[in-house]
Amino acid sequence: MPAIHYTISKIQHIIGASGKLITDTPITNLLTDSRKINNPGASVFFALSDRRDGHTFIPEVYKAGVHNFVVKHLPDDVAAYPKANFLVVSNVLKALQKLAAQHRKAFDLEIIGVTGSNGKTIVKEWLYQLLCPDKKIVRNPKSYNSQIGVALSVWQIEEQHNLGIFEAGISTTHEMEQLEHMIKPTVGVLTHIGTAHNEGFKDDAEKLTEKLKLFTHSNLLVYQYDDLAAYKGKVPGKRHFTWSRKFNQADLYVFSETVIAKKYYLRAKFKDTEIECLVPFVDEASIENAISCWATLLALDYDPVVIDDRMERLVPVSMRMELKQGINDCSIIDDSYNSDIQSLEIALNFLNQQNQHPKRTLILSDIFQSGLEQDVLYKQVANLVKEKKTDKIIGVGKAISEHRALFKTTESVFFDDTDTLLEQLSQLNFNNETILIKGSRSFEFERLSKALVQKAHETVLEINLNALQNNLNHYKAKLNPGVKLMAMVKAFSYGSGSFEVANMLQFNKVDYLAVAFIDEGVSLRDAGINLPIMVLNPEPSAYDKMVAFNLEPEIYSYKLLDDFIKFAQQKNIAAYPIHIKIDTGMRRLGFEEFEIEHLCDVLKDNKYVHVQSIFSHLAGSDADIHDTFTLLQLDLFTKIYRQIENSLSYTVIKHIANTSAITRWPVAQMDMVRLGIGLYGIDGAIKEEPSPLQTVASLKTSIAQIKHVKAGETIGYNRNGSLPEDGKIATVRIGYADGYLRAFGNGAGKMLVNGTLAPTVGNVSMDMCMIDITGAIGVKEGDEVVVFNEEYRIEELAKQIGTIPYEILTNVSQRVKRVYFYE
Ligand SMILES: *Cc1c(COP(=O)(O)O)cnc(C)c1O
Repeated sequence: MPAIHYTISKIQHIIGASGKLITDTPITNLLTDSRKINNPGASVFFALSDRRDGHTFIPEVYKAGVHNFVVKHLPDDVAAYPKANFLVVSNVLKALQKLAAQHRKAFDLEIIGVTGSNGKTIVKEWLYQLLCPDKKIVRNPKSYNSQIGVALSVWQIEEQHNLGIFEAGISTTHEMEQLEHMIKPTVGVLTHIGTAHNEGFKDDAEKLTEKLKLFTHSNLLVYQYDDLAAYKGKVPGKRHFTWSRKFNQADLYVFSETVIAKKYYLRAKFKDTEIECLVPFVDEASIENAISCWATLLALDYDPVVIDDRMERLVPVSMRMELKQGINDCSIIDDSYNSDIQSLEIALNFLNQQNQHPKRTLILSDIFQSGLEQDVLYKQVANLVKEKKTDKIIGVGKAISEHRALFKTTESVFFDDTDTLLEQLSQLNFNNETILIKGSRSFEFERLSKALVQKAHETVLEINLNALQNNLNHYKAKLNPGVKLMAMVKAFSYGSGSFEVANMLQFNKVDYLAVAFIDEGVSLRDAGINLPIMVLNPEPSAYDKMVAFNLEPEIYSYKLLDDFIKFAQQKNIAAYPIHIKIDTGMRRLGFEEFEIEHLCDVLKDNKYVHVQSIFSHLAGSDADIHDTFTLLQLDLFTKIYRQIENSLSYTVIKHIANTSAITRWPVAQMDMVRLGIGLYGIDGAIKEEPSPLQTVASLKTSIAQIKHVKAGETIGYNRNGSLPEDGKIATVRIGYADGYLRAFGNGAGKMLVNGTLAPTVGNVSMDMCMIDITGAIGVKEGDEVVVFNEEYRIEELAKQIGTIPYEILTNVSQRVKRVYFYE
């Protein structure tokens, strides 16, 4: 809640919008996502047209109680919103940014602006950790650093703050000016400059020039000397503070670096004296980010001894929530690294998306450094808990316990500290619920998550739900207006999970799901998924279940159709939705052309079934060598669906396009598309580099033992493997029973170990295999090993053994634990 009081008329004035107001109301919340409504009465919805036209969400947002809208044009049915104020502007995003910039201007506080290619979020969060002992800080939640994210972040500035730390991220030219208007940093920090997001820029120079625009009006700029050495004179900022590990003319010259007991010891020259600093990290990226923070604090005149003391206590930044299987049939959302009100809201939204258990529980610690009065803070927390329909709250800490009265409407229990909670954990009888664990660092909630999460086998398949959402949006953006989307979640969502993926899809409002078998559909219903679901292979023996769970069969033959009609007759079922499958050339399932006339006779005026859709499947939509064939399939399908539709007295949904067809065959979209493998980040038809899709699944395992072997010694079963020279092998915890096929043995498969690709040696065993790590540096027992991820891609792995990514993905066996990430 900003200390400045906004009303909708004041906002109208600021953004220069036209439109007549019905009533004037106070506004505290800016809403840009229809799925994340909070305090609707005091919200104004910005109908942004990002990937989808924001105006299409007005009906549902209005229904949820929001009565203020910033739009580009009035809705056609404006009379349907009698209580709504519509503010009309020529550019909705610009209006949002103008409001944010105006809000920023109202405050005279120091603001650190952070940008660069990598490390923005880490540096922002670490500066926060370093400066929060003596400042009241406002910062971007998570990595909300985009054109919209920055506007929403800046909106959080309130009277009591005396420092802002905001990161800015851009992907192309002319974006930074907008961000600069909103952030107006007084101090700038430029983090690592690398090749991330190069695609939106002509070259590195253009990218750097654009990034530096953030600092146009800054008094002080902190950067790595080496990055801008060639740039002299053109670097903005009244005063500069540079650091370097190579050049002693930098203000902070780091001349010595050593690892001591897993910590990194840095010595540097600063103002002609020697200073030192110990950081609790040893990886290169962390060191660079840490030096950047060190330099910033020195530039801000902090005492080097104080800085050293604080740097040593830096903690890793985890922006992602992990969704894992818990004890007693629970799901655990682990967000145990930090706690503030903004990230609590994000986490509660994610909790709210989970439908797999009847109950949602929040374990929350005291929240520190919010800058708010305790009463105000916990009142906000209590409101959020109530709005996000959390069933139970377990509060941990003195402060939250003192405010227990605020949580009266929710089932609640309070503990003074984490130890007391852990002692009494078993009495809490967790069972069949989704539990969000959210705690400030000092509460050590990782001990809690350890106690509640099922012990994981050390091989895990990590699923990145943000990537999945990104991929879904990529394809949605390709659809013509009104085209529906069916998401294929057969075979355990291509190996990626069941309700975890389905919840995400339901939350993102896809129109349909498709599963292979009735049982798969039943599990989704059991997990609270209420989207329509098509079953590709309905078994007549389970029709009862199918109907009981409201699952819709694909009907591909007379036999199936007859069986189902008879069943419907017996059970007195009328107009049950079915999906008619046509074989137009795949030669797998479906009615053929010569059968259509008779099919029409059966379907016409049939009161037991209702043809919900007619569809077919393309055999080669991904490759141009099949284009003539694809055209034939499309023609035949069009002819057949017309024939069927003509004989019915109603219209039906027609669909044929799978992932590659969405990419390559816009004409094939018809009324709906069926998105499969693209959702999981793979599409053979996309030739762009880098691909607009993001990697969803990463398979990781670990090293059980390392051995030194002599040249020629035989390794593994059948003594198939050996090293040409003396070397080192690692035994890793994955084998063919986990889905790491035997075909990957004897060098066919490789794994990433500490950045080096290590080939397999010898045959793959059931639960283990051996890899050659002779060339890898700094590898220890227990280290993580990557089987595939965004760097070593599934596509590459599949090629190695002459198969396709679909097979690799779906082969990862069910005993491999799935862990889900969401930011
Ligand atoms: C699996 C499947 C799809 C999805 O195919 P992708 O190539 O993974 O997009 C579409 N339609 C049917 C009938 C399928 O079986």
